[in-house]
Amino acid sequence: MGKIEDLKVINGEGYQLSTLEKVIASARANSMWPLPFATSCCGIEYMATMGSNYDLARFGMERMSFSPRQADLLIVAGTISKKLGPVLRQVYEQMAEPKWVLSVGACASSGGIFDTYSVLQGIDRVIPVDVYVPGCPPRPEQIIDGIMKIHDMARNEPLRRRYSDEYKALLNQYNIEGHE
Ligand code: SF4
Repeated sequence: MGKIEDLKVINGEGYQLSTLEKVIASARANSMWPLPFATSCCGIEYMATMGSNYDLARFGMERMSFSPRQADLLIVAGTISKKLGPVLRQVYEQMAEPKWVLSVGACASSGGIFDTYSVLQGIDRVIPVDVYVPGCPPRPEQIIDGIMKIHDMARNEPLRRRYSDEYKALLNQYNIEGHE
């Protein structure tokens, strides 16, 4: 859903002014291509979120990307086993910057009820997460709320954040290389 007021546009006769940073941030927020990394029941809930009742197309997000290089929002929905951790990390690394991560449900966020030797106790052990959605499973409304929080982050993110020392330090914690 476009939010033209976020562009902080100055209108005049025959012209509109804003900043390049605001225009780019708004374009990013309103044209996200999600990559659903769905492994179990939360993935089914995400499918419901995609359906006509909840209609992710209203955000311009109906185009799923199963190619990491053509995606900028990684949606992790479901139980992630420790064996799958490196695969998830590889998918994340293959996505181009800027990219965001939404952790959907208790399993992806903390291992959920599966406090066992085989289940990753939260995807933030292998990749950085931007927004966590609670629930087992979360309702589609909660998933949409999480997506809208990601949109807000994208809309308000400074253009150079991905080159900042703070962001590099975050990636360093995961031994992931960022921009030079
Ligand atoms: S959080 Fe609950 S609904 Fe979601 S994948 Fe885990 S067990 Fe299934």
